[in-house]
Amino acid sequence: MSPVLKKIITPFLLPNGLLCGVLIYGLGRELLPAELSALLQVFPLAVTVIALLLGWRFNRSRLVYAVALFLLVDAGLRYLPDDTQLFQLIAILLPFNLLILACFRERGLLNLRALIWWLLLGTEVAAVLWFRQGQNFPYLSLLDHSFADFSLIQKSALQQPALLAHLLALVVFLWRMLRRSAPFEVAFFWSQLLLLCTFANPGGQSLRLSLAGAGLILLLGVLENSYSLAYRDELTGLPGRRALNEALDSLGSRYTLAMVDIDHFKKFNDTHGHDVGDQVLKMVASRLATVSGGGKVFRYGGEEFSVLFPRRSVKQAAPFLEVLRVAVEDARFVARGKDRPKKKPKKRPAGKKVQASTLRVTVSIGAAERGGKLDTAEEVLKAADQALYRAKKAGRNRLVC
Ligand code: GH3
Ligand code: MG
Ligand code: MG
Repeated sequence: MSPVLKKIITPFLLPNGLLCGVLIYGLGRELLPAELSALLQVFPLAVTVIALLLGWRFNRSRLVYAVALFLLVDAGLRYLPDDTQLFQLIAILLPFNLLILACFRERGLLNLRALIWWLLLGTEVAAVLWFRQGQNFPYLSLLDHSFADFSLIQKSALQQPALLAHLLALVVFLWRMLRRSAPFEVAFFWSQLLLLCTFANPGGQSLRLSLAGAGLILLLGVLENSYSLAYRDELTGLPGRRALNEALDSLGSRYTLAMVDIDHFKKFNDTHGHDVGDQVLKMVASRLATVSGGGKVFRYGGEEFSVLFPRRSVKQAAPFLEVLRVAVEDARFVARGKDRPKKKPKKRPAGKKVQASTLRVTVSIGAAERGGKLDTAEEVLKAADQALYRAKKAGRNRLVC
């Protein structure tokens, strides 16, 4: 798979994008067979119970609040009699509440924010009940107000204000997803897309199931997040040491392991500060991640990385490692001071000299293959480390096998 596709598919589309697509397709066409109807009754309950338990156990308040919100929406739509204006009101409140949740910082289940959230939700429930009592609800006509005459959306069950609320939430979630690509942010986007599609075109049990589906997507988001925290290195985004250990355990009888270490890395920290050191680590990680030949890169720890080549001898892996070494050597890394702007300024500010210096970064690589005297992963790793030591001794910026 090309690296660009990999960058899109893994963080954004799998598994939540796929699940969302399947649910939108299945619910829209009521494809689910009748024999499954008993199972479908259990689905929302199962999702709710698992999400609440997991949210409580992992201290993920946003999951718990979102599921509570979906439960209330489900109850509102089921137990209050058919009323198109009530449907519009609930359809507006749903994305706004999700938006508030998405912007919440994860701070645990019991705190002042949680109290404010429950108060807000309670006020909304009271407003909906008040509305049902037939009270004169202010601004009632706004619920089915038409801002424009679009023939494309005339078929939608959502009136334009509710549709706008859903679209607004979707755009905000998309922006947050692309900016941060954290699994839970990604899950909010797909949940919202699923809710928009089913609320715009409700039928049969689809609303109930889509609320449960949205809960399931958020639940998977929490699991993905936990997996990512355990297996990925936060700074570089590469899989970490735990992932390397598991990969080593699952290998066959033939593989090559390389240890990559940045040369004189301490110097970057000492001369330019820890922030620039971190930037150098990220840059080197991004170069190493372009490895070909079936290699997989891990951050081993500190300024050391590992590259694993399953089913390859050291002789076969060496050319790919040499390409990596040259890629790092050829990279021009510009380190700026602490005031380095996030975006490149169009105009250099008058009278202010931007401190910039191009740093040359190199790596030394030691590699070893399984076979001969080297049987266990620890032995191969030790041999690769010794080869790395020889590369350092021989003058750095080289590969030793
Ligand atoms: P050599 O060429 O022999 O490898 O020299 P070196 O300076 O690269 O090696 P040394 O092991 O002495 O220095 C590694 C430094 O890496 C020390 C530590 O402070 C720094 N370091 C480890 N992890 C991080 C990190 O996550 N961020 C930053 N900025 N520095 C780190
Ligand atoms: Mg080191
Ligand atoms: Mg080093």
